[in-house]
Amino acid sequence: MFRQVELVFQNIVMRKLLYLSIPALFFYLNTLQAQELFTNTNVQLAYKKQTRTPAGKPGKNYWQNRADYKIDAHFNPADQLLRGSETITYFNNSPDTLTQIIIRLYPDLYKKGVKRSVAIADKDLNAGVQIDDFKIGQEKIVNFADSPKAFHDNAIVLIKPENSILPHSKTELNISWHYEVNTGSPIRTGMVDSTSYFIAYWFPRISVYDDIDGWDTWSYNGSQEFYNDFGNFDVSVTVPQKFVVWATGNRQNAHDNFTELILNRLDAAQKSVEIIHVIDSADYTKDQVLKKDASSVWKFSASNVTDFAFALSDHYLWYASSVLVDSSTGRQTLAEAAFNPAHLDFFDVASQAHQSVAYMSHFYPKYPFPFDHITVFDGTDQMEYPMMANDNPEEHRKDAVQLTSHEIFHSYFPFLMGINETQYAWMDEGWASIGESVISPKMGEPEDEGIFSKGRYEQISGTNRDVPLITNTKQYNESAYRSNSYGKAGVCYFVLQDMLGDRLFFTALHQYMNDWKGKHPVPYDFFYSINSGSGKNLNWFWDKWFIGWDFPDLALKSVGQSAGKTAVTIENKGGLPLPVYINIVMKNGQKSIQKYTAEAWKKGNRQMTIRIEKPLSSIASIELGNEFIPDKNKSDNTWTSLKK
Ligand SMILES: [Zn+2]
Repeated sequence: MFRQVELVFQNIVMRKLLYLSIPALFFYLNTLQAQELFTNTNVQLAYKKQTRTPAGKPGKNYWQNRADYKIDAHFNPADQLLRGSETITYFNNSPDTLTQIIIRLYPDLYKKGVKRSVAIADKDLNAGVQIDDFKIGQEKIVNFADSPKAFHDNAIVLIKPENSILPHSKTELNISWHYEVNTGSPIRTGMVDSTSYFIAYWFPRISVYDDIDGWDTWSYNGSQEFYNDFGNFDVSVTVPQKFVVWATGNRQNAHDNFTELILNRLDAAQKSVEIIHVIDSADYTKDQVLKKDASSVWKFSASNVTDFAFALSDHYLWYASSVLVDSSTGRQTLAEAAFNPAHLDFFDVASQAHQSVAYMSHFYPKYPFPFDHITVFDGTDQMEYPMMANDNPEEHRKDAVQLTSHEIFHSYFPFLMGINETQYAWMDEGWASIGESVISPKMGEPEDEGIFSKGRYEQISGTNRDVPLITNTKQYNESAYRSNSYGKAGVCYFVLQDMLGDRLFFTALHQYMNDWKGKHPVPYDFFYSINSGSGKNLNWFWDKWFIGWDFPDLALKSVGQSAGKTAVTIENKGGLPLPVYINIVMKNGQKSIQKYTAEAWKKGNRQMTIRIEKPLSSIASIELGNEFIPDKNKSDNTWTSLKK
């Protein structure tokens, strides 16, 4: 498609050049080019192979690999040793023969000598993951110290098996391993208190091989988040007696561990919209949480998820209730909080989780919550996992509400949609940012800056750190990562909804979600899916928000009189298409707002003039913007009448 366009383009240019003046030629070239969005060559190749389509849908040759995990894990908080043996069934659904396979060892972030971008205290550095046994098919691999078979680079191992992995084949891997869980320096995982742990990014897993980049060879360094294939998980966690385990997936053997009392309350919570105290403080003192002959083996099963996390404690309370998430099927989600009673904010978190799931299902993104449960665990971080969140305690309710809704929102992005967070963090963080910003006010806790992280974006916007959003997230430094992935993307989704209107916005968003759930969408799949779902060519919008260097800066250029009415000229100094909100205060005290969506800038114009149906002499002041619209320089947003 691209080559054809170029040829036509050249012919036209050759012919037109003969009689077009130079400014007219540039105008002509600009309008012609504006119809095409800059596309990376690896995405162009996907269109050629028809794994994806420029209509924003998976192509007829779309494929993705998957891996199913059966893990038997043993963890003892007394010595922090986590041991596991796992069977991975890897499905190579690609048309390619794989001569190598990449295994991720995320806990190697804590290994001495590994490259990382976060600080870890000396006492938390360890020997990393020890592989006790490794088999791929029938082939045993014993030497992981950069042998010709296995190359270990930071937190990844590249294996070259004897037998290549053929297209459309299934390969079994058996791995036994152990490592020491960190007691300090918590980066998304580790000890919470001496008898409570949140364990994430813990088991050896196969990296993603996809149609855009081939093998994902990036080594986890503690900053960027993750990219994982979907798979089924059957996990058994054995802990010492007295511990309760919460995890991704559905409980398979609650009756082997809990007393009748707890089982009955859990059952009640599955049917109750009111919060049920499944475990209260008194239950521990009365020793009525676990059966006398509890097995201490906790089994969970999850289908088609991108990750698995678990948590344990011997003193956490457990509150839960059910939320109707899909009115058409009657499906419910169990919204849970497991927490230390010393953290007072957490007494309200089960209710916040309940409300979050309800608002997400029915208000924004107005899409049934995708999982059977969500458990917010009182931990050390602010980090999402499928069906689990590791959330630190907060002093103020406002922060707890915003954190709870943010992390739960991630259930859609990146967990329903299998997003490559490592490269396109805005594809999930932007949604979680706007998600918390529209849901938190429903719980009485609006964002101070209108949209989460908007201030951070305003701060660096227009500088050379404000790199285009389409930039691979791995290339960012910390301030650009925060500003782009959260603030700018969150604001962009708000501007998009403001422009399309609610009906069209949700129609387009749901088409994107339905077409790409359980898959690996890239930015262009999102752009083009929204184009086709809304029936509008928004390439001019994507170009400015994602590919260009434009930044938010609107200004009141002039206010004047025209035929007894008021004419206001607004200048778009930064070039970014933003909604224009004009707040008018009359001399008699009356207030009104005139609104224009970002479409006002569609033609690439840098100026617009609007009319207020009142004489200039009756207006006291005019001010641009509101709390949701970023503006780099607010000093030129106000006009005040000199005459009282
Ligand atoms: Zn987030």
